[in-house]
Amino acid sequence: MTNATELTVEPIIGLEIHVQLATRTKMFCGCPLEFGAPPNTRVCPVCLGLPGALPVINRQAVELAVRAALVLNCRIATFTKWDRKNYYYPDLPKNYQISQYDLPISSDGYFELTCDGQPRRVGIIRAHLEEDAGKNVHDFPGYTGVDLNRAGTPLLEIVTQPDLHSADEAREFAVQLQRLVRYLGVSEANMQEGHMRFEPNINLRIISGGQEFRTPIVEVKNLNSFRSLYLAVQYEIDRQLEQWRETGETAAMGNKSNRGWDDVKEITLPQREKEEAHDYRYFPDPDLVPMTFDPAWVGQLQSEMPELPIRRTERFVAEYRIPAQDAPALVDDRRTADLLDSAAAAGGDKVTLAKHFLSFWAKHANERATTVAGLGIAPQRLAELANLVQAGKVNATAAAQIAEAMLSSSDSPTALAERLGLLQSRDTDQIAAWVDQALAANAQAVQDAIANPKKIKAARGFLTGQVMKLSGGKADPKIVGELIEKKLAEKTGGNH
Ligand code: ZN
Ligand code: MN
Repeated sequence: MTNATELTVEPIIGLEIHVQLATRTKMFCGCPLEFGAPPNTRVCPVCLGLPGALPVINRQAVELAVRAALVLNCRIATFTKWDRKNYYYPDLPKNYQISQYDLPISSDGYFELTCDGQPRRVGIIRAHLEEDAGKNVHDFPGYTGVDLNRAGTPLLEIVTQPDLHSADEAREFAVQLQRLVRYLGVSEANMQEGHMRFEPNINLRIISGGQEFRTPIVEVKNLNSFRSLYLAVQYEIDRQLEQWRETGETAAMGNKSNRGWDDVKEITLPQREKEEAHDYRYFPDPDLVPMTFDPAWVGQLQSEMPELPIRRTERFVAEYRIPAQDAPALVDDRRTADLLDSAAAAGGDKVTLAKHFLSFWAKHANERATTVAGLGIAPQRLAELANLVQAGKVNATAAAQIAEAMLSSSDSPTALAERLGLLQSRDTDQIAAWVDQALAANAQAVQDAIANPKKIKAARGFLTGQVMKLSGGKADPKIVGELIEKKLAEKTGGNH
């Protein structure tokens, strides 16, 4: 059926992301990076843009950028240079930002993520290094302050292909990129401190009456949370469709625009028209030498690359037999994931280890506001505890008690289990005595069950619970089950 009013709408979304690199000092001077320091106390002639001051490249920033670029499957430039991006703004004392224009440090990569359980590949156009500007502070009546502590902070600007197609996907990309840069130690990616800022560009491909239309591209500036990224993209999708219905305006040369995000009203608002590259009068920075990279050094960084979260998740689900939705709790913190692997390598039963990590170890970590790795327990001891459970020497409840004791004692889990009296009793005579005691205490219920075979299963379960209670959780449940079975069979004379 052809319907003239039928509409297909496909959002086309690309992202520009600024990621603050986890260096100790700024991009071109020795000033420390310190969030929240008193205004203009982490500054020097270089980042203040005083005449005659010369920038010096931060080697650590370059190394972190290359690590990030490698993990984004980018081509690393053999020759890269610095350019001045000229514009005038109070928080930019030099009147230019040092950035990279035509020869970025890396380009042509891709990022793999999972959306709704499906693998997705998002193209990376480029990732380049630049410095951040300062901050205008508007909390004074009648005037604006300028704080230059942030000026010169090293940033990696990542530009994706327009490969994303919904607000959900855009948010998912941002969340998984955050996880990745943290994993690599490239950035702390702390959203509250502005370590990751997003600028989505959005338009719509609309098919109506067999014709294709594209709405003008809008770039939303400076979003600093996953929530605002999601809401802004969703808002633009709705707004552009509505505007197209009203005006029929489509993308043409020169009608790109910038919009800002109002976090309170949750709407985008028009800003100045978008600059084209030539407005910035880019030219090579004469104060900085171009950089060339030794392929052996790049190869060295490549070889130091850890197993990435997406691969590790797949492996953990397969090897540790965990549900996919539990994987982030084990994978997101790299040291915790490494610890789990070490405990398994130390001989610990994998399935039991993963259960312990997800249950009591996670609980203790949460209570102490740290990670499982942050609890500081040696992998050998984690493995030993898992194997006590696996071998049936202690039950799950006892394991949690032993874990608690391990946090304040360096004794082995086996020694702690003995001391706490938690080793399961495999002493058949002792267990038989508990079984007799449970049968005697529940004689009437046992008689009823024997008289009514439908009740026998429930009776067995009830009696097992009673025996476990009498034994203080120490009886081996397997032996308990066998003995109850035997005693019940004796009582019925084997006639059921
Ligand atoms: Zn400085
Ligand atoms: Mn930028």
